[in-house]
Amino acid sequence: MRTILIVEDNPMNMELARDVLEANGYRVRGTTSAGEALQALQESLPDLILMDIQLPGLDGLELTRTLKQDPGTKDIIVVAMTAHAMKGDRERILEAGCSGYIAKPIDTRALTREVARLLPAVQEEAQAKVL
Ligand code: MN
Repeated sequence: MRTILIVEDNPMNMELARDVLEANGYRVRGTTSAGEALQALQESLPDLILMDIQLPGLDGLELTRTLKQDPGTKDIIVVAMTAHAMKGDRERILEAGCSGYIAKPIDTRALTREVARLLPAVQEEAQAKVL
């Protein structure tokens, strides 16, 4: 099963993202800050991180840059969540090392589509059953 680490300090967004991703067959782990996320990554590595950009302390883009500089975590796919929809934000997000992003408020279909694009879960499980 594909695993997703959510880094999100807003409880409602966390619940929404978790519910949507679990319903789509992903295993989900939730953390509410960069510090907590780094601790979780010491224990196990997810296939993808759903990263809130606005976090207390180290923000989501700084955390992404940190992860992309570390050989142990650089291959984890990062999808940003951002309330900003200003010009230049997309570039900033991709430059930090994110592979994609979704806008807030979270559109559950956009979230499902973006995560599936980068990390197809259903297909892999279907293949696993054949094996
Ligand atoms: Mn936030």
